[in-house]
Amino acid sequence: MRDFSSSHEALSLNTATVRKQWRLDRIIEECARRDIRAISPWRDQVAAVGIDRIAAQLRATGIKLSGYCRGGFYPAGDAAGLRAALDDNRRAIDEAKLLGAACLVLVVGSLPGALDGRPLYRDLARARAEVRDGIAASLEYARTAGMPLAIEPLHPMQAAERACINTLEQALDICDELDAARTGALGVAVDLYHVWWDPKLEAQIVRAGADRLLAYHVCDWLAPTRDLLNDRGMMGDGVIELKKCRRWMEDAGYSGYSEVEIFSDYWWSKPGEEVLETCIARHKSVV
Ligand code: ZN
Repeated sequence: MRDFSSSHEALSLNTATVRKQWRLDRIIEECARRDIRAISPWRDQVAAVGIDRIAAQLRATGIKLSGYCRGGFYPAGDAAGLRAALDDNRRAIDEAKLLGAACLVLVVGSLPGALDGRPLYRDLARARAEVRDGIAASLEYARTAGMPLAIEPLHPMQAAERACINTLEQALDICDELDAARTGALGVAVDLYHVWWDPKLEAQIVRAGADRLLAYHVCDWLAPTRDLLNDRGMMGDGVIELKKCRRWMEDAGYSGYSEVEIFSDYWWSKPGEEVLETCIARHKSVV
């Protein structure tokens, strides 16, 4: 297993971690200042500054994108909605390509309308079928663009609103169906916040192998957790066995970044400088 204790060259910052403190251009400046070599930005953060400006800033600083957040949200109530979702995913692929991202992360969606408290239907199997068909359609376009798609399973507490793919096993079943030849065009983003509890986690990481392990997201699971979305813990403050999980990833052939992704009202209330310094220190000591 790689030694992270003396360098944070493998650290990537998911820029949602400091989105309440800074705009993306400032985040990139602050990362460059601390020798953080990779980020994973969100589409709204990029749009707020302008994609051409961000692309130029990335070129100037040499900062890479471990991923781009995000595509997905396929299920819709009708054909027009499904078409709109596919169009939006094509745009996300184009943006990821322009920014030189390693992959486009897919949060696949689930019952349409559920996020707003008004689900248009309750048929989870239908949502899963729409997700499968949506990924298949996006994959065709992504192949021509040369942009790998990384399915991110979300914790089952998000099964109604954000993702009907909730385990690594489910995600890999879709990968096997749509990309049986393991071309590298389709894989998974392993976000420990979502999958740490899974009794099959180690076995599924082995099953995925290097060509399906496209991204690795770290934070911690606080006990107790007080908010389903915005109470992620800083690495070392919770109950996830971070080093054990990284060993599983690396034994399976993963050699990419470990991306710090912390949605937290607590950390959003801290100065951005303090958050980044803490991420770097914890990355060295506990990741
Ligand atoms: Zn993630």
